[in-house]
Amino acid sequence: MKKVLIVGAGGVGNVVVHKCAQLPEVFGEIWHASRTVSRCDAIARDVEASTGVKVHTAALDADNVAETVALLKRIQPDVLINVALPYQDLTLMDACLEAGVHYIDTANYEPPDEAKFEYKWQWAYQERFEKAGLTALLGAGFDPGVTNIYCAYALKHFFDEIHTVDILDANAGDHGYAFATNFNPEINIREITSNGRYWEMGEWKVTNPMQFHQPFDFPHPEVGTKDIYLLYHEELESLVKHLPGLRRIRFWMTFSERYLTHLRVLENVGMTSIEPVEFQGNQIIPLQFLKAVLPDPASLGPRTKGKTCIGCLIDGTKNGQRVTKYLYNICDHQECYREVKSQAISYTTGVPAMIAGKQLLEGGDWRKPGVWNVEQLDPDGFMQDLNRYGLPWEIVDADPAMIPNHP
Ligand code: NDP
Repeated sequence: MKKVLIVGAGGVGNVVVHKCAQLPEVFGEIWHASRTVSRCDAIARDVEASTGVKVHTAALDADNVAETVALLKRIQPDVLINVALPYQDLTLMDACLEAGVHYIDTANYEPPDEAKFEYKWQWAYQERFEKAGLTALLGAGFDPGVTNIYCAYALKHFFDEIHTVDILDANAGDHGYAFATNFNPEINIREITSNGRYWEMGEWKVTNPMQFHQPFDFPHPEVGTKDIYLLYHEELESLVKHLPGLRRIRFWMTFSERYLTHLRVLENVGMTSIEPVEFQGNQIIPLQFLKAVLPDPASLGPRTKGKTCIGCLIDGTKNGQRVTKYLYNICDHQECYREVKSQAISYTTGVPAMIAGKQLLEGGDWRKPGVWNVEQLDPDGFMQDLNRYGLPWEIVDADPAMIPNHP
């Protein structure tokens, strides 16, 4: 009987707990801990009502290593799935090392006082995890996560060399609010108000935030043609390192005009800043205050209608011939809500995190000691599980003319 501890009780935590409970033969005992334990208790009640599975809950400040180690030693899980915030990655990795527990997350570490996410801090744990005989799987959500595994799968089965990758993330869902973010607003806004960046011929090229955009035809009529914006996204850093022969990699995301107008105003008036300001005798961080007044992403589920389409457009060669493939998933917000009371953004993140837990507990390539980005592991079992557990994928031959043509 394997035990899992899931940390974080936001939109993604809710999905991971539901999906683990659907697989009692893999996750024999489920623990759920977070800063606000009442949120874990509410999820546990829902899960018990829909699956009959009991979820154990605990309060945890995951910034506190000693407190986390004490909890890990008390419940002795086989694996910890971190779906709290990127700020907790290092403390949770430290606690896992001390208590002898495997580790999985969906977002790379970011220091709270600087919008600068990078893998260097977590890659530095490689030797310690290896020596301890423990596995850490980094970035096991959708993007990063499934997009990395799509690249590994394409390289294994369809290409001798991958030359370019364009990751395309479309959300054609509508929640009816004038402005809300689909996952943690602080993390989301920090990501898209930063400079864009892509990698070409061995060099990182920096763009202004949202400088480059163009229309793209997504492969589902309910997504259709959408403006895609070039952003920096964390999987670019690891894929550049792990895809041999790569010449260029970019990340694109769709945004509605309404979303961008609100964001511009919020930026112009200083509400997206992470510099502390004095307010009525207290130091507050404008972006954290903004998060407090925006709708909670976990509450968007019942209101959000429409589909997401996330995938990779990959160009390269096989047996000396040019090959272009498009791998993608289409996910429906309302179907996700019916299944696990969540919108598709949390669903597409939580399902892969559960599958990473399953792959790790089942052993084989996914449990080798060390710190790994998911594209470094055998993609086949994971790809099969995506089809089984709610995120079926398509792979099609694509016209090279689909590849975005600038910058
Ligand atoms: P939410 O903000 O909805 O939830 C975060 C949860 O973490 C909350 O329950 C929060 O507690 C808890 N938490 C925060 N700090 C601590 C702490 N110190 N100790 C214990 N618990 C803490 O975020 P989401 O569910 O939307 O996102 C979760 C993670 O998933 C994020 O890291 C995000 O970056 C990542 N993500 C990854 C994606 C991918 O495709 N790879 C896509 C989307 C998200 P409280 O309830 O008290 O606030």
